[in-house]
Amino acid sequence: DLPHEGWTEVREVETMHGGTGHSEILIEEMRVNKTQMLGGRGQGHLLGQYRLGPARLAHCMRWIAQAETALDMMVDRSLNRFAHGSLLAEKQGIQWMIADSTMELYQAKLMVLHAAYKIDRKEDFKAEVSMAKHFVANMLGRIIDRSIQVHGALGYSTDTPLANMYQHARWARFADGADEVHQMRIAQRTIAAWTDNGSTRSATGDLPI
Ligand SMILES: Cc1cc2nc3c(=O)[nH]c(=O)nc-3n(C[C@H](O)[C@H](O)[C@H](O)COP(=O)(O)OP(=O)(O)OC[C@H]3O[C@@H](n4cnc5c(N)ncnc54)[C@H](O)[C@@H]3O)c2cc1C
Repeated sequence: DLPHEGWTEVREVETMHGGTGHSEILIEEMRVNKTQMLGGRGQGHLLGQYRLGPARLAHCMRWIAQAETALDMMVDRSLNRFAHGSLLAEKQGIQWMIADSTMELYQAKLMVLHAAYKIDRKEDFKAEVSMAKHFVANMLGRIIDRSIQVHGALGYSTDTPLANMYQHARWARFADGADEVHQMRIAQRTIAAWTDNGSTRSATGDLPI
């Protein structure tokens, strides 16, 4: 419960996308009454981990919506910008960006739906949430980046929301677990699946295909 003796907010940290309400704090000689303790002593990380499964998917859902907006804008711009003899939408280089973004967004949605399905069924969902979180965070950055590319200087300007979306998206690759930490855990599970069962199948979603 704040304010509390021994708890000092040193400063609010300004980030790439402005102030976020996240602060540098100083904890000194702080005493917490037993009645104020959540969970048991030394179990704070456990509580955090419990929250992180579903919360990571909630981030993914927001990021999917952002990526979809970026793709909508990419297609709309490509149908309206005429350059070098044709619409951008008629150029193969632009179609590849649209196609790659479409496939990645589809993959992202399926991964999130499958992880949510496992949470709903009270099955172990750690691996699927971890893979979804990593994939969706990176997909988001790539699709916004391509959308900016298709918009040219307009995309770099603050006349469209893309520049702001790009700044926000960068955060996704380390919040709720940095890319490399998820990759480390994913690899550990795949190696364990192989050593325990002689197959990596259970580590790749354990799907019936
Ligand atoms: C605005 C904002 C809001 C945030 N909100 C949340 C939130 O609500 N919940 C949340 O969980 N996090 C949140 N974060 C992220 C969190 O604050 C940390 O940034 C994150 O946990 C990474 O820790 P760190 O910054 O100390 O980086 P470090 O631990 O110093 O890691 C730095 C880099 O080192 C590399 N690294 C670290 N460990 C390994 C490893 N084992 N193997 C290989 N490479 C490694 C990675 O590239 C990593 O990005 C937020 C961050 C920001 C900026």
